[in-house]
Amino acid sequence: MLQSGERASWPDLESDVDADVLVIGGGITGALAAWRLAGAGLDTVLLDRREIAQGSTAASTALLQYELDTPLLELRRTVGSDRADGAYRACAAAFDRLEAILEELGERAGFARRQSLYLARDGDELPDLRRECDARAGLGVGVEFLDRQSLRHQFGIERPGALLSSLGGEVDAYRLTLRLAEAAAALGARIRSGPGSEVVSLQGGAPTIARTASGHVVRATSAVFATGYEFAPCLPPRAASLVSTYAVATVPLAAPEPWPGRALIWETARPYLYLRTIPDGRVIVGGADEPFADADRRDALLESKTAQLIDSARALFPSLALEADCAWAGVFAETPDGLPYIGPVPDMENVHGSLAYGGNGITFAVVAADILLGLCRDGSHPHAALFGFDRPARG
Ligand SMILES: Cc1cc2nc3c(=O)[nH]c(=O)nc-3n(C[C@H](O)[C@H](O)[C@H](O)COP(=O)(O)OP(=O)(O)OC[C@H]3O[C@@H](n4cnc5c(N)ncnc54)[C@H](O)[C@@H]3O)c2cc1C
Repeated sequence: MLQSGERASWPDLESDVDADVLVIGGGITGALAAWRLAGAGLDTVLLDRREIAQGSTAASTALLQYELDTPLLELRRTVGSDRADGAYRACAAAFDRLEAILEELGERAGFARRQSLYLARDGDELPDLRRECDARAGLGVGVEFLDRQSLRHQFGIERPGALLSSLGGEVDAYRLTLRLAEAAAALGARIRSGPGSEVVSLQGGAPTIARTASGHVVRATSAVFATGYEFAPCLPPRAASLVSTYAVATVPLAAPEPWPGRALIWETARPYLYLRTIPDGRVIVGGADEPFADADRRDALLESKTAQLIDSARALFPSLALEADCAWAGVFAETPDGLPYIGPVPDMENVHGSLAYGGNGITFAVVAADILLGLCRDGSHPHAALFGFDRPARG
C-alpha cells in the first residue's frame, strides 16, 4: 500500500481502448469516480495527462465542510430553497459516505471529524449569523451560535460571535486519491497517466469518442470530465471564473492541541481566512484569494500572501508561535451561484462532468461520485438536477 509522500506511476496510453466508462482526470474526483464505477462492475478507463493526483488535489488543504462558500440563506435567495437545501444536505451526507468509503478501502487517509467554527468579522453580521444558524439547524445540522463571551471562553478568540457546527473534518486528499486509484486498478480499472494520455478532444454519442495526445482513440459508452480547473470545454460560457488561492504550513507547534478540539476555523469575510491543524503539529492557514489565475502573477504574490496569512492567524491566536515553514498557491473556481456543475453535459450525448468546485472540492468529489455512478450505470441520479450544467446562470 502507498504511504503518504509516495507517488503512483501508471503506464501512459499506448493503444486504442474500448470501455464502459472513460474518466478524464485522476484527481480526487476522477479517482473516486473510477473506484466507484469499477466497483459497480463497469469496465473503466481513467486517463490523466500527468501522474495521478498532481492537479489541485495535491495543493488541497482538505478541510471537509458541509458549509459551502455561499451561506445557506444567501444560497436560498439565489437558487431557491429546494436547490440550496438539497446542496447543503448532500454535503452534510458526504461525511458518512466518506467514512463508509474509507472503511471499504481499509485506509483512513488522515480522516478525522472536527467541529467547524465560522467566525463573524464584525458585530453587524450577528443578526444574519443567528438566522443562518436557525436555517442550518432546520436542516438537521448540529450548529450553535456563540456570542463574544462564549467564543472567548471556549476558543480564546476575540471576535463578535461565531457559528459552531458539529459537522466537519479533514483528510489527506493526496493520499486518499493515490489509494483510490490503486484500489480502482485492483477492481479492474485501467489507469493511464502521462503526456500521451491527455484527452485533446471528446465527442459525445453512442459511443463517446475521445482522442488523446498520443493519437489513440478511446471509445466508451459514457465519458466523465473530472479535469478540475484545467480543461473544461463542456462548461457553459461564463459558468465559472478562476481564483488564485494561497496556503501556508507553519513550523510544528509544541502544543498538542493549539485550540480546542482542533476545530476547522474560517470566517464570514470574503475572501475568507481559514485554519486547520495537521497531525504533525503544524497549522495550515489559507485564503487571501485573488480574482485571477495567471500562474506567474499568482506566484509573484506568494511571499506577501504568506506574511498576510501568518499575520491574520497570529491576530486570532496571539499566544501561538506561528512561523511560516512552507507556502504554496493554487486555483479554484467561483460560479455565479456558488454551486459546482455535476451532471450530464448538455449537447454531449453520454458525457457527464463534475467541475468548477469552490473551496469545498473534496466534499463535492464525494457527492459527485454517487451522481456519476448513477448517471453512467442507470442513466440518472436524483441529485444530478441540483448541480446540473443546464441550470440558469444566476448570481
Ligand atoms: C490551495 C488550495 C486549497 C484548497 N483547500 C480545500 C479545502 O480545504 N477543502 C476542499 O474541499 N477543497 C479545497 N480545495 C479545492 C480542492 O482541492 C479541489 O476542488 C479538488 O482537489 C479538485 O479535484 P479534482 O479531481 O476535481 O481536480 P484536480 O485535482 O485538479 O484533478 C484534475 C486532473 O485532470 C487532469 N487533466 C486535466 N485536463 C486533462 C486532459 N485534457 N486529459 C487528461 N487529464 C487531464 C489533471 O492533470 C489533473 O490531475 C483547495 C484547492 C487549492 C488549490
